[in-house]
Amino acid sequence: MSEEIREEFYAVFRKYGAMMAAQPYPVGEEARLLLDTWDGVYGTLKGADLGNLKESDVVKMANGHFSSSRTGMRARVISQTPYCQRCLREGVSFRAVVDDMAQIIGPQVFIVDMTGSKNAATLQMARAIQHATGCFVQDRVRDGQPAGYTLTVGRNLYEAVVAMTVLEKAAEIALKASVIGGGKPLSKIEARIMRQNYKNKYSTVENEVKSEEEVNGVEDDMPDGEDTVSKMDFADRESELRQMLVDFGNKMVACGLVQGTWGNLSVRLDEKYMLTTPSGLDYTRLHAEDMVKVEISSMKYEGDLKPTSEKSLHAAVYQHRPEIGAVIHTHAKYCCIFAAANQDMPIEDREAQKVFGTSVKLAGYGIPGSRKLAKNTAAALGDNFGCVMANHGMLACGSNLETAFANCQMLEQCAETYINRRFK
Ligand code: 13P
Ligand code: ZN
Repeated sequence: MSEEIREEFYAVFRKYGAMMAAQPYPVGEEARLLLDTWDGVYGTLKGADLGNLKESDVVKMANGHFSSSRTGMRARVISQTPYCQRCLREGVSFRAVVDDMAQIIGPQVFIVDMTGSKNAATLQMARAIQHATGCFVQDRVRDGQPAGYTLTVGRNLYEAVVAMTVLEKAAEIALKASVIGGGKPLSKIEARIMRQNYKNKYSTVENEVKSEEEVNGVEDDMPDGEDTVSKMDFADRESELRQMLVDFGNKMVACGLVQGTWGNLSVRLDEKYMLTTPSGLDYTRLHAEDMVKVEISSMKYEGDLKPTSEKSLHAAVYQHRPEIGAVIHTHAKYCCIFAAANQDMPIEDREAQKVFGTSVKLAGYGIPGSRKLAKNTAAALGDNFGCVMANHGMLACGSNLETAFANCQMLEQCAETYINRRFK
């Protein structure tokens, strides 16, 4: 194998090692990244510092290939994140209570028992990752301590790392929802359809980009924002709003309010149009010119990129609320606990009550991207500045992007305080 190619692999491992290390929780001592390449399986060594991988930390593990690669699942992430470890210790295998878990992971996560026969374990593992992109692995007791880890798989390392973050969030939601009556699982059929839609439609563009970089190298990071705006000839206000959507998208990622490409942001451009984030693309790769101009009344849009699949949700808010200038929809973890438990969210904090009153409402369930979801959410929002969306996420809005973002953060903070005060 030539030196040049090895460097390409190394750059990809470095990028996704850093993404794992940047999570706000420890990913565990056994955390590793593995990738099935044309040249065999490469991976990071056990105990390597993922946040700062050295070239010698990435080694060739095998000449062969993963059996799961036949279905396109070439990347694997081993992790020991706190809530997944807790589920493993307590023997909790759980069903999807939020849409993003159903889409990215699958209808259910299973526990694979590696403590018995090797053949049985291999079979169990194959079955578990055929039905979902993640499972918990119960390993032999080591030094008197039960050992185990989470395995997530993906078509590329980006997907496998995002799957780790979504599964850790889902595990925390599943455990903590017990303080407000427990999570209400999605039906198995619904969850299966969602997984298929995700694989076949939603994530295709980002998947192609990310898989390509595993062969041809990692793209440059965010380009200079001003550069990208000046390439196109938008009026000043439109240029400014486009750049703000990029900046607040990145802020959402940095604050942990979104996982992967989920969630979406919009601003009202004028009486007729809104600007939205494009559908299914990694926020950290977006440029001002990628934002999509959508006519609020007809959903017609300009340009080659598709607007967010939740465009009707954003449009419904602008139509019902003339004073609203920006809308944010996301799957923020603590709000998702209320969403999973299908409960309104009480607001206890005095300052937050000035914005949201004493509670924000739960919007009835609707398939992601559907008109039903848009209708239910606009109704639950009423004249408030936020609501939660059953088994899905939350919505916050305001007169402009700064206020919508502040409201989004405030609502998530209220949810966090409420839940953590009660969860032991
Ligand atoms: P988009 O990537 O299409 O904006 O969708 C994300 C989402 O949160 C769907 O509910
Ligand atoms: Zn969503």
